[in-house]
Amino acid sequence: MEVLYSSTRDSGKKVTASQAILKGLADDGGLFVPDHIPALELSMRELAGRSYQDIAYEVMRLFLTDFTEEELKQCISRAYDSKFDTEVIAPITQAEDTYYLELFHGATIAFKDMALSILPHLMTTAAGKNHAENEIVILAATSGDTGKAALAGFADVKGTKIIVFYPKNGVSPIQEKQMVTQKGDNTFVVGIHGNFDDAQTGVKALFNDRELAQEMEQAGMQFSSANSINIGRLVPQVVYYVYSYAKLLEEEKIRDGEKINVVVPTGNFGNILAAFYAKNMGVPIGKLICASNENKVLYDFFVTGRYDRNREFVLTSSPSMDILISSNLERLIYRIAGDDAQKNKELMEALGRTGSYEITEQMKEQLADFYGNYADEKETSQQIRELYESTGYVLDTHTAVAGAVYQKYKTETKDDTATLIVSTASPFKFTRNVMNAIDGKYDAMSDFELVDELSKIGNVDVPPAIEEIRTAPVLHDTVCDKTEMKTTVKRFLGIVS
Ligand SMILES: *Cc1c(COP(=O)(O)O)cnc(C)c1O
Repeated sequence: MEVLYSSTRDSGKKVTASQAILKGLADDGGLFVPDHIPALELSMRELAGRSYQDIAYEVMRLFLTDFTEEELKQCISRAYDSKFDTEVIAPITQAEDTYYLELFHGATIAFKDMALSILPHLMTTAAGKNHAENEIVILAATSGDTGKAALAGFADVKGTKIIVFYPKNGVSPIQEKQMVTQKGDNTFVVGIHGNFDDAQTGVKALFNDRELAQEMEQAGMQFSSANSINIGRLVPQVVYYVYSYAKLLEEEKIRDGEKINVVVPTGNFGNILAAFYAKNMGVPIGKLICASNENKVLYDFFVTGRYDRNREFVLTSSPSMDILISSNLERLIYRIAGDDAQKNKELMEALGRTGSYEITEQMKEQLADFYGNYADEKETSQQIRELYESTGYVLDTHTAVAGAVYQKYKTETKDDTATLIVSTASPFKFTRNVMNAIDGKYDAMSDFELVDELSKIGNVDVPPAIEEIRTAPVLHDTVCDKTEMKTTVKRFLGIVS
């Protein structure tokens, strides 16, 4: 059955999947959502034993119904190839009684690669299908990982340019080095004086700037988005939840139909929303455990039903989760409001105006499958150290937040359901914090000495993505104020007015 997409703020106008991917964000500032969540057509038993690519096709064809089989399979095979350092793409590692879904084996060693390896292909295919002649300019705000993954995905892709804004003092040294050394004539990287929310708000304003859109059109260009607000990022993320269940079943870690809980280190709410979609497709998922760092706006939301971004923004050792406006939550709000675009619009307008909103009791009741909690900096580093000491397995800081929250969940509920922790980054991306958590003595070492030491103590090879940037020259050095984002974009694109 065909799936069409409409805005979370106006369900009147429907577009196809390819149109939604091409546009990124709806004209009214809402996010595109499917008119229904399709059910899986194959059973978990039938999916068990299939490759990641096969399962990707089975899941994505149900959402992206206007793509042909050939188009979709080509996108999948171009995305999930030797850019990943393992043939299985998303391996599951068991440590103690918990499963870790490692989503960091792609080009930039963070889970953003899972979606951003395929998004450029979905987008150029979508442009072809819709006879879009304009050059596509990807605008992205990044808390560190999206930026590099999007740059790597779009670099030198014909008919596209990509501009990435990151908070100048809000990403790890390795993350920054990864971005500013990016090759490709169509890539632009800018540090802004501000935090991630400033970058994201600035990018959203550029998307909604009518005057700029007109100038772009005259110059033969149009914006699109690679942030997780693009439905073309969300759909590929549903895949690995289906894949994980099938894999655990194949390996007889679980019985057919047995529920599993998933724990997701959360920032913009994209990854955990994908798990929610997977559950709605029929994957036997029990609890969706939403793990936050000290920016615990989501924890407070799940406890009280009130979303309130009016608080201090904390810089933590898990920067990709340092977010106070979780954009994708809007898709969940829309859903629990009974697909009521008007209601959702009112709440989002309140968020824009006052920085907060409150959902009704009736909406709150529909969040019963979600559990939210958070881990502070001390609990996070303790989690890294303890798991390393007992098993030798080294977690990155984001995954450690999830691990610490899972401990709290177990203590609180005594729930012993089989559990999958989503491991969103390689520890090599956050080496200093990871090594400091294990032992304070490492602090004197340089970033790359730490890389080698981590390789030794964790008994894992240094990932090629890290080897590459060791000596790579800096190619991007633009820094601007958050008020100068528009002029910076126009300068890059050669638009004068
Ligand atoms: C982006 C990111 C997250 C948060 O994911 P969301 O989909 O934004 O919730 C968590 N961990 C890492 C390492 C990330 O890069």
